[in-house]
Amino acid sequence: MASYSVEERANPNSLEYRLFFKNDKGEYISPFHDIPIYPVAGKNVFNMIVEVPRWTNAKMEIATKDPLNPIKQDVKKGKLRYVANVFPHKGYIWNYGAIPQTWEHPGHKDENTGYYGDNDPIDVCEIGSKVCSRGEVIKVKVLGTLALIDEGETDWKVIAINIEDPEAANYNNIDDVRKMKPGYLEATVDWFRRYKVPDGKPENQFAFNGEFKDRDFAINIIKSTHEHWTALVFKKTDGGEINCANTTVSDSSFCISQESAKATVEAEQLVVLAKITLDGQTKHELFSKQRCMGVQKLKHLFQCFYLPDSSGDGISLETLFYLEKNTFFCINSCK
Ligand SMILES: [Mg+2]
Repeated sequence: MASYSVEERANPNSLEYRLFFKNDKGEYISPFHDIPIYPVAGKNVFNMIVEVPRWTNAKMEIATKDPLNPIKQDVKKGKLRYVANVFPHKGYIWNYGAIPQTWEHPGHKDENTGYYGDNDPIDVCEIGSKVCSRGEVIKVKVLGTLALIDEGETDWKVIAINIEDPEAANYNNIDDVRKMKPGYLEATVDWFRRYKVPDGKPENQFAFNGEFKDRDFAINIIKSTHEHWTALVFKKTDGGEINCANTTVSDSSFCISQESAKATVEAEQLVVLAKITLDGQTKHELFSKQRCMGVQKLKHLFQCFYLPDSSGDGISLETLFYLEKNTFFCINSCK
């Protein structure tokens, strides 16, 4: 059975934080494209990538527009996003995540809801008793779905249970949740209705009057999002800014080599921005590559311009320099 691992870059709760995925051979993969939708062919069991462990608040998600689609924290107006605790809930009330190889097509008007897709893989609320960890890939049994209309977009929320949950055999459809976890479905609707209200947004709406659809309906929705994903990675449809780079979908034209996947991950490594002032004092600070790129855009950049040998360690041929307001800057990769 396939197993996956994750590799963290930078600190959690920072703009630079990334969680990259590897397969059982230790090769970098995209969780969005390379983890199969079905762990076992021919059974209605689905893979789920856990983005947000239950009872936590950081809005972590698969970065669909970044190469290899690591998990990162959502950012609004330059600030990391955390969902508020909406009384009486604490953080997300399930393990929350996505089914790989699915895509809610923003150019496709859902015939059930009348709204276009939200441009993301399909979301899952996993109701088992274990608190999963971020980046964990679990196998789930689908039980039903809720049709959230989030700011005018269709955003299906699949209700599922980890097949390794000790109670999993007792859960086969949405009514089993109603019977055995009374109040959980109502709490789920309440949560999605109000979770953005503390951020100044209106309450969310639902198709079907906020009623849950059953297992078969949910499986059909997932299958249709899988078809949209297939069209995406085989270039039958335009995915806009979605990054389709993958390392194992071999007949997809977005398939890249392991070498270039590695280079993608390494490009996320920290770089040193050394600020050298004219009075001879040198101050080194650490910045992410992302931030340096921002700096680069703002200022003139002189490439491959050397400092004298005496000027310090770690200055290599790849070092980039620029000059602004009597201050000399260099950007150097930190290896
Ligand atoms: Mg969604």
